[in-house]
Amino acid sequence: MRRAVCPGSFDPLHNGHLEIIARACNLFDEIIVAVSTNPAKSYRFTLEERLQMTRETLSALRGITIEAMGEGLLAEFCRRHGADAIVRGVRTSADFTFEVPMATMNRHLTGVETVFLAADAAYVHLSSTLLKEVASLGGDISGFVPRSVYRRMTAPSPGRA
Ligand code: ADP
Repeated sequence: MRRAVCPGSFDPLHNGHLEIIARACNLFDEIIVAVSTNPAKSYRFTLEERLQMTRETLSALRGITIEAMGEGLLAEFCRRHGADAIVRGVRTSADFTFEVPMATMNRHLTGVETVFLAADAAYVHLSSTLLKEVASLGGDISGFVPRSVYRRMTAPSPGRA
């Protein structure tokens, strides 16, 4: 039984994430989507909302579980959950440059391997940051995010930037 973790902040989840998760499902028997929170960053959606959107979109799929990553190291999360690998999507050389030291460090920490999947050309332009910006300026992002995300992105959100 091969198990892998797809980590991310998913703020919010978009179709580029979904495509990587779907391809990871073809490679592994079980996928844990680990929703992370970096205390140094600020988020558009709370952890609970990010978990909810991810569950609403993915939980019907067989072999996928969705969990908060919690505090601490991703490598330790993988060890606790018996995961053999981390799956990361790579859009650009900048992504790759950022990811490789983390992958190497994670392998040195607990032996967990990282598998990089090249972003599909249809989604390579998607990032959560860009989608939030486009949506905040009134652009139509309906073709780029799952329905539960679109609903929340277009709902009035008092008190939020
Ligand atoms: P993080 O905050 O950890 O960078 P993200 O939520 O931005 O997490 O992304 C989660 C994962 O999805 C990462 O592996 C990231 O490289 C990948 N990813 C993000 N956008 C895309 C995309 N458009 N196509 C493929 N993979 C992507």
